[in-house]
Amino acid sequence: MSRWTPTDAAFGQARSENVQQQGPGSAILWQVRETELDWHICSRARLSRDPRFDGKFFIGVHGSGVYCRPICPAPTAKEKNCRYFATAAGAAEAGYRPCLRCRPECAPGTPAWLGTSATVARALRLIEERGLEDDGIEGLAERLGVGSRHLRRLFLRHLGAPPVAVAQTRRVHFAKKLIDETNLPMTQIAIAAGYGSVRRFNAEIAKVYHRTPTQIRTNARSSKSLPENEYMFLLRFRPPFDWKGMLALLRVAATPGVEAIDEQAYRRTISIQGKHGHVHVSLDESGLALRVRICFGEPRALFQIVERVRRIFDLNADWAVIVQTLGSDPLLAPALKAAPGLRMPGCWDGFEFAVRTLLVRVKDPETRALAGRVVQAFGRPVAGADGLTHVFPDAHALAKADLGNVGVSPDCACAVRALASAVSDGRITFEGIVDSEGFLARLRALTGMDEWTAQYISMRALGEPDAFPADRRNLPIGFENVAALKQHAECWRPWRAYAALYLACKQRGGTPATRSPVSEISKDTGEAARGAPERRKTGRAVQSSAYVTNP
Ligand SMILES: [Zn+2]
Repeated sequence: MSRWTPTDAAFGQARSENVQQQGPGSAILWQVRETELDWHICSRARLSRDPRFDGKFFIGVHGSGVYCRPICPAPTAKEKNCRYFATAAGAAEAGYRPCLRCRPECAPGTPAWLGTSATVARALRLIEERGLEDDGIEGLAERLGVGSRHLRRLFLRHLGAPPVAVAQTRRVHFAKKLIDETNLPMTQIAIAAGYGSVRRFNAEIAKVYHRTPTQIRTNARSSKSLPENEYMFLLRFRPPFDWKGMLALLRVAATPGVEAIDEQAYRRTISIQGKHGHVHVSLDESGLALRVRICFGEPRALFQIVERVRRIFDLNADWAVIVQTLGSDPLLAPALKAAPGLRMPGCWDGFEFAVRTLLVRVKDPETRALAGRVVQAFGRPVAGADGLTHVFPDAHALAKADLGNVGVSPDCACAVRALASAVSDGRITFEGIVDSEGFLARLRALTGMDEWTAQYISMRALGEPDAFPADRRNLPIGFENVAALKQHAECWRPWRAYAALYLACKQRGGTPATRSPVSEISKDTGEAARGAPERRKTGRAVQSSAYVTNP
């Protein structure tokens, strides 16, 4: 549907999405279709300033030449002066500058349109991970197996902006965030944000914000100052977000020494290119963002760290869109209602996650302790972080580690070493994955890797919202076999991973915050219950929940 008005026509064709309201009284339940925005809905949403619309679209204001988020505190512009965009990059491409009051660079990601084209979604993932600096749009297109002209067309159709504009917008927004939220000198910000030179950085900031970097910092200057090498970020998300539930899911699997999770916060050690540090994540008082403190000596890695934290907490997910698909299934509806805002936990590092998954698969009642012993023996010690003692061992260290020494069973040690060797010599990589089937095939080929484990690792490490590890020993109640479950799951696409999460939640009969998820993902009936005494009696529930919980 597209109900264009003369207003829209006057500003040319808005290349955006069509957003449609679903049902009476459900203004937050939107669905993104095709590539045009319904301005009626955008207009209502804009005037409501409801934070749940944040990130759904951006408003370009004719006259002032800025673009805003729907929550902008500035007086609302007249409708005839507004033009709606699905993405910040689309607004920038049309010549609008980001508003300095609502800071559209901070808006949550807009994953709604990711469903519209798998190729665009993959391209965005690659741009997020490494930008376009290395080999440009040609290289990007080649990695995706499409022509560069076709890729450009897809971008224009789905996002309203070419890949170059998306990459530039991300970079300039990140630079602005660093100016506002850190004390880094401008030269370092230029480098951290990926500008080749300070001059280019200055020119780009001036062009986009009509101010110099220093002027922006003076305007935004907050009284707090952070110690050197410490950076504070606010990462916004679209509510609802079940923060306690997320912590509960992550806590169960925390690796001693590497992660520390309590009722309020998530902390962990990090390691990037030989440098170590740690991050501390908690919920902001506003309830609309996560507060992330990063202690790391190399500002160049900040962008990567921030993106990885976003992935751990699944901040780009749009729950309102997900619930729209899943909520119509009576099997899931009660669970969705009982625990709104549950997200699919990701992981900091794919290799670390895969090793942990292999370690807890073994029949060991103390798998957490086992992971801790592996870390103590083969990880690198770090200092200065309360309760965090080591960074997780890298592939090189584990490829030749004598895991039997710390109590890992021979089979498991063999599987871990096979994985570590493959990662160490580059046969398997967890970054820049665009072909998830190929990735799965490479995992499956490893010694000691079974289908379910490969699927599970792929789901969590790649953050695939549609991944669906199903195993006959993990069947939810009411399904005779895997085929029946898979057939039913067709109606959950492309959100099958979330459906699995909610199924498990439902079968445990509680909200994620109050339940304590299984601590192990053993596929052998009794094993999963070990270490979770309250669930020993309910073997069935344990089995069924095992395929979505955190090992
Ligand atoms: Zn604004």
